[in-house]
This record gives sequence, structure tokens and C-alpha cells, in this order.
Amino acid sequence: MELIDGNKIAADIVAELRGAVAALPGRKPCLALVRVGEDPASVSYVKKKEKTAAEIGIESRVILPPPAITQPELFALIDRLNADPAVDGILVQSPLPEPIDELAVFRHIAPAKDVDGLGTMNLGKIAQDDDSGFVCCTPAGIMELLARSGVRLAGKHVVVIGRSLLVGKPFALLAMQKKPEANATVTVCHSRTAGLAALARQADVLIAAIGRPEFVTADMVQPGAIVIDVGVNRVPDPARKTGYRLVGDVHFASVAPRAGKITPVPGGVGPMTVALLMQNTLKAYRQQHPA
Ligand code: NAP
Repeated sequence: MELIDGNKIAADIVAELRGAVAALPGRKPCLALVRVGEDPASVSYVKKKEKTAAEIGIESRVILPPPAITQPELFALIDRLNADPAVDGILVQSPLPEPIDELAVFRHIAPAKDVDGLGTMNLGKIAQDDDSGFVCCTPAGIMELLARSGVRLAGKHVVVIGRSLLVGKPFALLAMQKKPEANATVTVCHSRTAGLAALARQADVLIAAIGRPEFVTADMVQPGAIVIDVGVNRVPDPARKTGYRLVGDVHFASVAPRAGKITPVPGGVGPMTVALLMQNTLKAYRQQHPA
């Protein structure tokens, strides 16, 4: 079994981006990070994004509207950012508090600045095998993680557990694109799938994006399979200062000895998501400032 070190691979990408940003003439790329409310996971994700942007030389603007902001007010804020020539990328941290319609908010971001890639235009471009848009950061991060770990998807059976707009669905589309780095045969499972364990056992590459702690157990994994654990679940642990520990959607202790390669949680997919957000921000800057 080989551990796929997402921290190391993400650090390599961050170093490459730092070099690319240092070489830019004029002002540096700018990423607006909008966070509504105090969801603890969102607070820590936005902090991490801010810190990584600073490491690369990307300017970040953290915007914290009042937690009771209405949908029209949030649209107006996004309109201002869409029109601001000093802002290259916009990310609205999910989840947004009720009753805000999160999808409508993602759709409101100008496609040219939608560096999280969750608007209709950028998601649609994945389905059209069109590289000009922004691929949502977690699926893009998984593709990069696989490529940099020497995993070739072409001809492989990829089983994705989870069909969310954020992870499972766009990853499935990416893996089946008609491109040398993709060309996989993809099965997507979800909560209504019959015979999920048997399908998972057929996977050469198994992607777990479920949001259920340690859902994938050893009996669901073919010996030698590549296992990518997207899950980030906080489970109570009174022995820790934080009161919780992070576990993935894969039961690591039993699955790891069986897997060919596997990502840990934390330190697998998570850091890649942040690195790919920065890559998208640089791409947005370049598209808006052609040399
Ligand atoms: P989500 O929107 O809740 O989607 C979960 C998916 O799993 C849904 O498609 C759901 O099926 C399916 N599912 C739930 N229970 C199931 C079951 N018992 N059997 C089969 N399928 C089941 O979650 P998400 O946003 O995709 O996130 C998934 C996990 O990844 C979470 O732990 C999240 O925190 C983590 N995540 C990590 C990163 C990162 O950067 N590392 C980024 C994003 C998300 P239905 O569609 O039928 O409901």
C-alpha cells in the first residue's frame, strides 16, 4: 500500500504558483472570499484559503456580511464584486444559512470570476470537455492528485460514491471526458443505489464522497484498488483539545492494507482543493489580463 500525500502534492502546486505569480507584471491576482455566518468548518476553510493565497502572493479580500444578510443583499454584494476590475476571482463559502438559495448565489457570480466553478456555465463546460472554464476545486484536485501519483484513469473502472454537485457529479464527468488523462469508465452510486458494496468492489479507482464517517469498509474494496477519500467528518473525541477528530468516509485502518494507493484524512484531498482554487484564481487573472 502506498499513501498518497496530498499535503506534499499540494505544497508542490503552491510552490509552482508562487513562482508564476512572482513573475507577473503589475498587480497581483485578487480573490474575494465571502463568508456568511460562523459555521466552524467554514471559518477554518476560509482561513486556510486566505493563508495559502498569502503564501502564493495572491491578494485575498475576506468579506464577512452580516449573518442575517438577505438574498437580494447578497446578490448586490456579488454584483459589486463582479463589476470590480480589481477582483479576479470570487468564492462564496458553502454552506450558506437558510433561507438563502445557495445555487442561485453560485449562478449569480460572473462566469469569468467563478473560480469555485459551481455556476451553470463552468459546470456545463465540464460536460462539453471544454477547458476554458473553471473546474470546481475538489474534483479538479482529485484529478491532479491522481495524475501526480502516477494513476492513469484511461480504461479503468472508476466508482464514485456520491452524486453531489460539489464533488461526485462533476468528478464523474471529468473522469469520463474524452481526453488522454481521463477516458475512464464511470459508475456513480448514491443513497438509492442497489448493491452498492458489489459495485464498489469492481472499482479500480474508488472515490468516496459521501459525508458518512468510515462508510467504506475493507469488504467493499478490491485488493490493489486506488482509494480516494474525500470525506471530512468531525466525530466527537473528548480526549482531544478540540473535542473532535477528523475522519474520512473510508475506514482507513481496515481499507489501507488492502488498497494499492490511498489518501489519508486529513492530508489527502483537502489541501488539493485549496491549491486548485489558487490555480483557478491565477487562470481567472490571466484570462482577464491577457499578456
Ligand atoms: P453531500 O452533498 O451531502 O452528498 C453526499 C452524497 O453521498 C449524496 O449523493 C448522497 O446520496 C450520497 N450518500 C449519502 N449517504 C449514502 C449512503 N448511505 N449510501 C450511498 N450514498 C450515500 O456531500 P458532498 O458535498 O459531496 O461531500 C461529501 C463529503 O466530502 C463530506 O464529508 C464533505 O465534508 C467532504 N468534502 C470534502 C472536501 C475536501 O476538500 N476534502 C470538499 C467537499 C466536500 P443522495 O444524492 O442520494 O442523497
